[in-house]
Amino acid sequence: MNNNNLAIMGGQPVRNEYLPYGQQWLDDHDIQAVIETLKSPYLTQGPKIAEFEEKVANYVGANYAVAFCNGTAGLHAACYAAGVSEGDEVITTPITFVASANCVRYLGANPVFVDINNSTYNIDPEKIEDKITSKTKAIIPVDFTGQPADIKRIKEIADKYKLVVIQDAAHSLGATYDHEYLNMEEGNSCKVGAIADMTMFSFHPVKHITTGEGGMIVTNSEVYAKKLRSFRSHGITSDRSIMLEDHGPWYYEMLELGYNYRMTDIQASLGISQLNKLDAYIKIRRNYANIYNQAFQGLSGIIIPYQLNGTHSSWHLYSLRFELQKFTANRRQIFDALRAENIGVHVHYIPVHLQPYYRERGYGKGLCPIAEQWYEEIITLPLFPKMTMGDIESVIEAVNKVYYAYKK
Ligand SMILES: *Cc1c(COP(=O)(O)O)cnc(C)c1O
Repeated sequence: MNNNNLAIMGGQPVRNEYLPYGQQWLDDHDIQAVIETLKSPYLTQGPKIAEFEEKVANYVGANYAVAFCNGTAGLHAACYAAGVSEGDEVITTPITFVASANCVRYLGANPVFVDINNSTYNIDPEKIEDKITSKTKAIIPVDFTGQPADIKRIKEIADKYKLVVIQDAAHSLGATYDHEYLNMEEGNSCKVGAIADMTMFSFHPVKHITTGEGGMIVTNSEVYAKKLRSFRSHGITSDRSIMLEDHGPWYYEMLELGYNYRMTDIQASLGISQLNKLDAYIKIRRNYANIYNQAFQGLSGIIIPYQLNGTHSSWHLYSLRFELQKFTANRRQIFDALRAENIGVHVHYIPVHLQPYYRERGYGKGLCPIAEQWYEEIITLPLFPKMTMGDIESVIEAVNKVYYAYKK
């Protein structure tokens, strides 16, 4: 084998063009949908937002959906609607994007990090109860990589302690639970979004579908939906049935402190068009994840993603875990070698409790040992629907090349 020459050592890279880890896929229909909105009377606060909300609510099987300018704003609003306030505690996982914890800080409350399960890499439900105090208000499980969190166990605990569950489903639009897993009847929606008190989706370009920036909270609760809508738009209402006074047709009242967190109609029209393709995108992601699994499951020293029984990932990310004692290289060297082959590998995520902002506030190493160990061993491979089979094959070739170069 003469292509054993790693590109990082001066050899020929597996591919000439850099392959990113994730990327949006827009076609002419998407572009046309945006142009139509640009030509319409409404750029924002028009009909497209309600249409997009209704379509997402229907898709996941939730009663209400409230669109936001991004997923993080949605998480902020969900924490507010859940009643999270100064000094409260909210339980979440360290293996996530910082937004899952920051949304708690926005309200003056404190995230409490519970370590991950060493197989699923999602929050370990068995470790949640130990961290519940009289100040705990909510749990924010994250469906890391698109694999749904163990929501049945999490809801049992939340019910016992009267906590609100806000599922961070930025990775898992379209993911499902089995009916048997949820003990639900056939016919009920078992999609992520139908189960938790509130569920957040993100429409950032690397996520399943995109609106440029954008997010949504879905819920079955009318009370939460109203709170979310109010928070999204300055806490202002023009609903005469709840206003204190009425000065005339121009009159509105600000009843609570909210933000301008609205999505535009431009974004929503793109979202509606993208939603039509979601199932096709997920099908491709699942197929590619399967091909990766087949290719890597036989390589000793590499751990392919484990899937919790009863859950079906929508595969936002695909990551490999390296048992580093079986290699002559560390994660950084393996990562650099793959990058040199023009494979845009990445690392998701740096444990949030190790970020300087959180370390300054008393969090730090030792808090979540499984997550900290895992972080040293993980590499994200490219996975997005616009990839071709040739792209997938080049990733597999590069992983094999680097694997055999560094395997003890
Ligand atoms: C992308 C993401 C968010 C934030 O969504 P934005 O739309 O970028 O604000 C939150 N949590 C997780 C896990 C994410 O991946």
